[in-house]
Amino acid sequence: MTDDIYGNYIVGQWQGPTDAGTFPVYDPATGAVVAEVATATAHDVKHAINGAAAVQPMWGTMPPVERQAIIRRACAIMTDRIDELGRLLVREQGKPLAQAIGEIQYGIAFLEWFSEEGRRAHGMTIPAGTATKRIAVLKQPIGVTAAITPWNFPSVQLLRKLGAALAAGCTMVAKPAELTPLSALEIARAFDEAGLPAGVLSVLCAQEPYEFTDVVMADPRVRAISFTGSTEVGKILMRSSADTMKRVSLELGGHAPLIVFDDADLEAAVTETMASKFRNMGQTCVSVNRIFVHQAVADEFRERLEHAMSVLTIGNGLDEKTEVGPLVEPAALDKVERHVADAVAKGAKVLLGGNRAKGADLHSDQFYEPTLLVDVDDSMLITQEETFGPVAPILTFTDETDVLARANATPYGLSAYCFTNDLNRAIRMSEGLEYGTVGINDAMISAVQAPFGGMKESGVGREGGPLGMEEYLETKYVSIGQVR
Ligand code: ADP
Repeated sequence: MTDDIYGNYIVGQWQGPTDAGTFPVYDPATGAVVAEVATATAHDVKHAINGAAAVQPMWGTMPPVERQAIIRRACAIMTDRIDELGRLLVREQGKPLAQAIGEIQYGIAFLEWFSEEGRRAHGMTIPAGTATKRIAVLKQPIGVTAAITPWNFPSVQLLRKLGAALAAGCTMVAKPAELTPLSALEIARAFDEAGLPAGVLSVLCAQEPYEFTDVVMADPRVRAISFTGSTEVGKILMRSSADTMKRVSLELGGHAPLIVFDDADLEAAVTETMASKFRNMGQTCVSVNRIFVHQAVADEFRERLEHAMSVLTIGNGLDEKTEVGPLVEPAALDKVERHVADAVAKGAKVLLGGNRAKGADLHSDQFYEPTLLVDVDDSMLITQEETFGPVAPILTFTDETDVLARANATPYGLSAYCFTNDLNRAIRMSEGLEYGTVGINDAMISAVQAPFGGMKESGVGREGGPLGMEEYLETKYVSIGQVR
């Protein structure tokens, strides 16, 4: 039981539980209830959209420098509270505290960067075809927007969308994942205290996503929806956006290959593989899912990786020593176990791990051992579906053309990594990999100023950088006739 009850933040007001009741948020490290959260109803969602639509003309025409001042105040408030916010994030999501604090700092960096970029929503003028005309191109906020975010980065997933939207002059109604709504509500609190006008942001939580999406998708005033989550749900939203022709920005699943050539710096390749695979216990859409290693260096790479994995500390994310926390929910463990069992049944060998982690300090059944699989091939579930867990599968190859084709043989196209010291090969791979982000000798590719997003079934649109703000802007061409 918990005494903590969170309300929803709707048009500048905190609204506690109604007849719709509350739902619990669990700590994956202990199974304890962290807080109860009020369930938002369809009526609440409508009220939030009404409030956003009402304030949109004011917010959209406010000078960007004034919007920037409010955003920066929210940044300062979150920075002051970073330790407390980090601990809350760990308790609802499970990742190690240093990663949680890093995530919030990264989110704040998005807010800061976009608050500057809002001042550069430049249009243009274009020479006309006749002397009596002028052509101007204006950039204007698209209007009311909606965001739906997942549980793996409860803070930055919302801040990245919100930063771009607010800086562009858009209002937003947001729904965080039901597993991790608390960080999003704390973001709302920071903006409220920073003086964000009522209605510019509403955060609504519900255990059933339909309460939110049915209303949002049907409402023609919501002009854009930004979603991060599974490809399956992304497709549902893309289909339902057609009725009101909303702009969609979808950041969906991935199945990242990481290719290690025989000329690579193996130490760097192992360090980056570790960071990409074990950050957030492998629960990121850019986590490496298939490690292709050239046959000539396979033994050495495997030994180094096995050593690095064998010394990882598993525990509660609040413990400073912890490097691998619990997975977010029991179903996540089931999926990891299914993938490992399928790989083993088809001939893979478990070199390390392969089981749920147990121990006197582990107070839930949601910990999984860092697991190293070898003799993996392209027919296994683990090489086709996202595992979203701390499992590193090694495949081998000998030929560059062949490994490129194997790396691309997936409906996903979010991120790919390649380790080589051969410049010509690096050029061939960066151009040949069918992925929205490619890391060359780099598997930690996040940056606020860069356009992040996927190709193929990994999504549409980009987040971060100037292209990230473009998603929230309309382009208007104005033709002006000169009366002489
Ligand atoms: P994940 O695999 O990361 O849980 P989901 O796509 O299921 O991915 O969830 C991401 C977000 O999408 C969450 O906020 C969740 O509530 C929401 N969601 C899940 N199903 C739907 C749906 N059918 N329509 C709209 N949003 C959904």
